[in-house]
Amino acid sequence: MMRSKYEVIVIGGGIIGCSIAYYLAKAQMDVALFDGGKIGAKTTQAAAGMLGAHSESDGDYSLFFPFARSSQREYTRLKDELYEVSGLDIGYRAGGILKLAFNEEEKQNLHSLLTQPTVQWLNFNEVNMLEHGISDDVLGAAYIADDVNVIPSSTCEAFAKSAQVLGASLFENCTVYSIGKGRNYIVNTEKGNVEAKHIVVATGVYSNHLFQNLGISEQLSPVKGESLIVQHDGPMLRYTLFHDKSYIVPRNNGKLVIGATMIQDDWSESICLQSVEGLIKKAKAMLPSSANWKIVGFTSGLRPTTFDGHPFIGRHPEEERILIACGHFRNGILLAPATGKMIRDLILNNEVNQEWVDAFRIDRRQMAAI
Ligand SMILES: Cc1cc2nc3c(=O)[nH]c(=O)nc-3n(C[C@H](O)[C@H](O)[C@H](O)COP(=O)(O)OP(=O)(O)OC[C@H]3O[C@@H](n4cnc5c(N)ncnc54)[C@H](O)[C@@H]3O)c2cc1C
Repeated sequence: MMRSKYEVIVIGGGIIGCSIAYYLAKAQMDVALFDGGKIGAKTTQAAAGMLGAHSESDGDYSLFFPFARSSQREYTRLKDELYEVSGLDIGYRAGGILKLAFNEEEKQNLHSLLTQPTVQWLNFNEVNMLEHGISDDVLGAAYIADDVNVIPSSTCEAFAKSAQVLGASLFENCTVYSIGKGRNYIVNTEKGNVEAKHIVVATGVYSNHLFQNLGISEQLSPVKGESLIVQHDGPMLRYTLFHDKSYIVPRNNGKLVIGATMIQDDWSESICLQSVEGLIKKAKAMLPSSANWKIVGFTSGLRPTTFDGHPFIGRHPEEERILIACGHFRNGILLAPATGKMIRDLILNNEVNQEWVDAFRIDRRQMAAI
């Protein structure tokens, strides 16, 4: 039953909204979460689930990396906590990523990654000892043991269920149309109006309508990603194989993900034959025996992308009780815990790392111009 008033309303039930609802419920806030469809059914279900703090940093060790690493570390604790609260397993799989290099130039490109104490260079023989059947064309790999993976849908569900167990109310099939102002905020939903003291907008790439309603000039754009879900009878891969933004990710449910395309500004979720052909080609180049694997499914989703590739996490520039948490691009699964904690701390006026506040604020483009 929907009440007429909550302390906090979270709009959007992807991994970001569900993580926020969880951390708020754990802090004993009175939370309701609204999703226009089914929880976790949009971009989140399409993700591979790599927690690629190192792998995705691309040499940016000053800003993205510490935030991402704090989130990655939080998962080591959180996986057990979510299981205890919800009884759901998030599919946390140790092993890590082998970021392959096929020639000297690609090895050079891994140089900055290899300066991290947690990353190690392995030559072909060492890689082959870890994972048999790697292509003979591989020169070696950067081995990142800490970049483990989870199953995104299970993780989102575990956040949502845990939030609910801790007292949050979840409403599916209930689109939010607009947010108005009275003494509190008035949220206009498909099933009527609801009041809240704090609002969190966590609507992923689908945020532009609410941004416009809230007087925010920034926009999110999609980068579509298509993937194959596969299975095979042989021994399971132990490590994620990664090369040139393509990957094969082994999951704890016996399946593997071969991903993913990067198609700019495509709002459709359709999957085209050319993409499937490209994914298979890249998988075979890393691991020739993958040609015999069986396709058991396809996924597609829209990565929510901001003007500079970093998410928007923080307060509305004029309305301090409206918070934004969108635009997590390739890393929403990785960044969900750190985002949930940061939004909780902003709402509770707890101390928050000021560098992160400045880096992720939604009006950073205007601030930089001043
Ligand atoms: C192919 C692919 C591979 C990826 N791999 C990884 C990976 O390995 N690791 C990683 O960390 N990240 C990965 N990502 C990125 C990750 O999936 C996203 O960053 C993350 O899922 C974004 O989550 P979200 O909650 O912001 O958005 P979403 O999951 O899209 O959730 C937004 C929710 O808001 C709801 N909504 C929208 N508008 C409204 C409204 N007006 N009212 C009510 N509800 C509304 C939607 O129904 C939706 O459920 C990948 C993405 C893709 C596409």
